[in-house]
Amino acid sequence: MDHFLYRDGALYAEDVPVSEIAKAVGTPFYVYSTATLLRHFHLFDDALDGLDHLVCYAMKAASNQAILKTLAQAGAGMDVVSGGEYRRAKAAGVPGDRIVFSGVGKTAAEIRLALEGGIRQFNVESEPEIEVLNATALAMGTVAPITIRVNPDVDAKTHAKIATGKSENKFGIPISRAREVYALAASLPGLEVIGIDVHIGSQLTDLAPFELAYQKVAELTEVLRADGHTIRRLDLGGGLGIPYTRDNQAPPLPVDYGALVKRTLGHLGCEIEIEPGRLIAGNAGLMVSEVIYVKSGEGRDFLIIDGAMNDLIRPAMYEAYHDIIPVVEPVPGAEQATYDIVGPVCESGDTFAKQRNMPPVAAGELVAFRSAGAYGAVMSSEYNSRPLIPEVLVNKDQFAVIRRRPTFDEMINRDTIPEWL
Ligand SMILES: *Cc1c(COP(=O)(O)O)cnc(C)c1O
Repeated sequence: MDHFLYRDGALYAEDVPVSEIAKAVGTPFYVYSTATLLRHFHLFDDALDGLDHLVCYAMKAASNQAILKTLAQAGAGMDVVSGGEYRRAKAAGVPGDRIVFSGVGKTAAEIRLALEGGIRQFNVESEPEIEVLNATALAMGTVAPITIRVNPDVDAKTHAKIATGKSENKFGIPISRAREVYALAASLPGLEVIGIDVHIGSQLTDLAPFELAYQKVAELTEVLRADGHTIRRLDLGGGLGIPYTRDNQAPPLPVDYGALVKRTLGHLGCEIEIEPGRLIAGNAGLMVSEVIYVKSGEGRDFLIIDGAMNDLIRPAMYEAYHDIIPVVEPVPGAEQATYDIVGPVCESGDTFAKQRNMPPVAAGELVAFRSAGAYGAVMSSEYNSRPLIPEVLVNKDQFAVIRRRPTFDEMINRDTIPEWL
């Protein structure tokens, strides 16, 4: 459920007409709903009620400072995957003891940054990382709290580019080698082993792979405890999917996911962390774009819009589906048109949808891409010298620009000319 609904014949973001935002900031732009962000955070938080837990928002999904602050004020921790994200979390006021650091390639500089600024734990992914983390902590006269990310060799049944829990993926250490690697970590004085981490992929639409993975984590917890390790925290990753279409089978709800966590892991007495990203931000954002031309081709009509693959890359990169709707509410029973919906960028990959049935729209009208809040703005670029598009946050009847569109001069002047030219 989200807060982008038609009212009085027009699409609203909470209590603000989307067309009013378009007038203020120009198109294309992203708009997020505070109520939707908070609703999704609380769904997870409530689903784990009764367990000692922390919901660490995977901020790579949407990392604008205003979004982070909204969630942090509601009690969210943050899952970061780079020094840049760590700095963003701190800048949004998130204390170090609510930040977990994930990722396969943490550099020594990033590790130092987090040890200096405070960290809840590092989710360690390899033996070489264990060595660097230990050496860095020792050199700083401190001890780094760690979980080790295990790869449970579970098929998440999602798009290949976002599956992470099979043995052929680059993530974590094979669960079969866990005892050996935990023994190594426990022998190093710069590290404190506190738990286990797992994350099997993104946009999972079925709970079965989670169940398989969490059963393996439960078994491993007992085995590692028998080996003498203190396992008091389990980080279960993110990955719960969202509905991108309105007709397909809805993915499982956070409450069912929470029940699964309790059923598989609740008896272990561990503190539980989860790292949802997409489910918190995905349906809390729209990308809004204006139709430039409606072009008739051979046997097909193209809707050429001012948003492009550089603004929203998911369709080009993951063959992702986004519902695309007119900002003016179609009259009930209106005839559908069929379009290929494309951007102005000079490659055929700049296609958002092929042969899409939707109410007819004309040049100059606005369309909204639903479910664009996660992996949207954060993955955008200035390809074709198209300036990054603005982000807007709505809260009831108020809206604010939370990242403005750079001017063309700002974009161009980021380049510097060598002296010899
Ligand atoms: C990407 C990622 C997440 C978030 O995944 P979602 O599908 O957005 O919930 C959580 N944890 C880790 C380690 C990740 O890489």
